[in-house]
Amino acid sequence: MRDLPKRMLFGPGPSDVAPSVFEAISRPIIGHLDPAFVALLDEIGGMLRQVFRTQNEVTFAASGTGSAGMEMALVNLLEPSDRAIVGVAGVFGERLAEIARRCGAEVTEVRAEWGFPVPADAVAAELDRGPAKLVAIVHAETSTGMRQPITEIARLARERGALVVVDAVTSLAGIPLLVDEWGIDVCYSGTQKCLSVPPGLAPVTFSPLAMDAVRARGTPVRSWYLDVALITRYWGAERVYHHTAPISMLYGLHEGLRLVLEEGLEARWARHASLGLQLQNALEDLGFRLLAANGYRLPQLTAAALPAHVDERAARTRLLDEFDIEVGGGLGEFAGRAWRIGLMGESCRENKLDRLLDAIRVVTEAKE
Ligand SMILES: *Cc1c(COP(=O)(O)O)cnc(C)c1O
Repeated sequence: MRDLPKRMLFGPGPSDVAPSVFEAISRPIIGHLDPAFVALLDEIGGMLRQVFRTQNEVTFAASGTGSAGMEMALVNLLEPSDRAIVGVAGVFGERLAEIARRCGAEVTEVRAEWGFPVPADAVAAELDRGPAKLVAIVHAETSTGMRQPITEIARLARERGALVVVDAVTSLAGIPLLVDEWGIDVCYSGTQKCLSVPPGLAPVTFSPLAMDAVRARGTPVRSWYLDVALITRYWGAERVYHHTAPISMLYGLHEGLRLVLEEGLEARWARHASLGLQLQNALEDLGFRLLAANGYRLPQLTAAALPAHVDERAARTRLLDEFDIEVGGGLGEFAGRAWRIGLMGESCRENKLDRLLDAIRVVTEAKE
């Protein structure tokens, strides 16, 4: 195969992958209905329940990246002319709203300025204007580095009979996320962020209430591939073929989840919290301006505007060419003037952070 560089991944995903995960992915393929493979699926379901902090029976890894999880959540719950209230405070909130519109829903966006969370009272005001099938919101907005508080919005939504859908693509295994305790009905994630597994799977969980809503639909789910009722006949006891499971990717996820639980979720959250804060303090010392509001910053993803004297593109290219370090460029409103720096999973290690900061110091040095 063509030679590929060895990079250190500090972008908004993918993150660095542990050697034992690569080792798992390279194991021999067995059939997707082989009893040994089915046992592995059961273990993955059990570990995902622990990582999501849920008892939901319908908890599995959907085939596809995080966006497939997003689409699975919405396409199964929404029918044409259902009302969906969507929090929008960045690119991923916009994607949620767009998918909900494509499901034929009447979408009400509740917007917040980039870098700020969506206020719970604004969501409550929309819920009071009329019933909604669901409220959907992004927990960790990867375009701005903002952490969205969930509990109050979830409580208000459930009180008014709306299901709660939460995007945890960047939050799962990076910051506290308690699906059952917070009253979340459908939650989805991706493998290549804080789980540190290559991209390709979307862990998802559906509450019993959400599954009731799926079963009560008057129209078939518009996506056959992402139909949760069909897929759970494979992931559940029946083991009916739906589509061929991505075997090797599931080996990798199994090992990635094992590593998360071996470390312990609390310890993993604490590691991200402490190194993320170190990075943010160091960036401010170097003249960067953090874009997410104080008190709502994600430790695992920092969006920061560069000091005025630095050419964003040139400095980012130097990081890649001279240091084999990847950071992300700004998205949307922040394109061309900010970086998005991820410290996710295996990329979130003290020795790696030191190397990252040394390199950033070099490429952002002011010339005399
Ligand atoms: C990365 C991301 C997604 C999309 O995931 P893909 O794996 O790129 O499809 C969705 N939501 C959030 C918050 C993300 O960070």
